[in-house]
Amino acid sequence: MVKGKLIMRTDRCKGCELCVAACPKKILKLDEVFVNKKGYHPISITNEDECIGCANCALMCPDGVINVYRVGE
Ligand code: SF4
Ligand code: SF4
Repeated sequence: MVKGKLIMRTDRCKGCELCVAACPKKILKLDEVFVNKKGYHPISITNEDECIGCANCALMCPDGVINVYRVGE
């Protein structure tokens, strides 16, 4: 079964949540505690085991924060 592994450059994230809306598994959300150096709550993943590696999040992000690697193919 294909899974996704996300590498996120959270220092670039501006918290726009476009990726949150694009994720079919609803496993992305803004970190409620951490604030990045831009002053935003950045993106985080709640359950990476559920990621299917579709890369919708990476395609949607205007700031190149997310890279998706597909594993298990
Ligand atoms: S690769 Fe797809 S399933 Fe995984 S976090 Fe991104 S949008 Fe969600
Ligand atoms: S990762 Fe990209 S699309 Fe998602 S909230 Fe951050 S800037 Fe927006």
